[in-house]
Amino acid sequence: MMIDLHMHTPRCGHAAGAPSEYVAAARRAGLEVIAFTDHLALPDGYDPDGEYAMRPGELGDYVAEVREVQRLSGHSPRVLLGIEADWVPPHRGQTARAIASHAFDVVLGSVHFLGDWAFDDPSLIDEWSLRDVAGAWDEYFEAFTHAAASGLFDVMAHPDLVKKFGHVPPGDLSALYKDVAAAVADAGVAVEVSSAGLRKPCREIYPSDALLSAFCRAGVPVTTASDAHTPEEVGSGLAEVREAVERAGYSSIVYFEAREMREVPL
Ligand code: ZN
Ligand code: FE
Ligand code: FE
Ligand code: ZN
Repeated sequence: MMIDLHMHTPRCGHAAGAPSEYVAAARRAGLEVIAFTDHLALPDGYDPDGEYAMRPGELGDYVAEVREVQRLSGHSPRVLLGIEADWVPPHRGQTARAIASHAFDVVLGSVHFLGDWAFDDPSLIDEWSLRDVAGAWDEYFEAFTHAAASGLFDVMAHPDLVKKFGHVPPGDLSALYKDVAAAVADAGVAVEVSSAGLRKPCREIYPSDALLSAFCRAGVPVTTASDAHTPEEVGSGLAEVREAVERAGYSSIVYFEAREMREVPL
């Protein structure tokens, strides 16, 4: 079953194309299950230019818009209502309330911020030259595992997003990956295997083969995703993603409906 559990709408300020065009693209690509997961509004001060996420008052309109394409799609593909929510620990209560305010099928948890630094924003890439890469990785995965354990999310998105621009610490990362996978397994959430990294400077699926294998050994379920920000990107790279999932040792993938996990053969 071809599943793309992560895609956006123009409400976030950095995506293009009407939701109906995403659905049409999914149908053409032969996808059976898709989820809209646009960026939930960020807490005050985290999105000064309105380029990271929808506005705080837009959530109801977003939900209505997804419900409408869901109705029109007639289950071909099956359209799920999701949201991508940032892990911003000081504001976790606010995030929890927003998530609880609608009947989402799936909630993706994302770490895009280290403190108040949006480390994956190309316009803030200079900050990387001031940082110790290994330190940034430690900080990232600490946030990632705390987010996984927070109880807010069903799926952790783009698990090693910290490598986006190619910043990878030297040396053996297997101990780190083993610890991360164990923490995520304890948390009982799934992780996303995303083709988005193939379109970024790192030129690699999120997560890497090594991290994905660690997730598989720890028994962490996986879903598949494009993180499309245009209709053309819907389903893109899913063949490579599914190969990576199989290579890591998985024989099934999951999606969520009404926040319940559904497992299907790969
Ligand atoms: Zn985005
Ligand atoms: Fe994201
Ligand atoms: Fe996304
Ligand atoms: Zn994303």
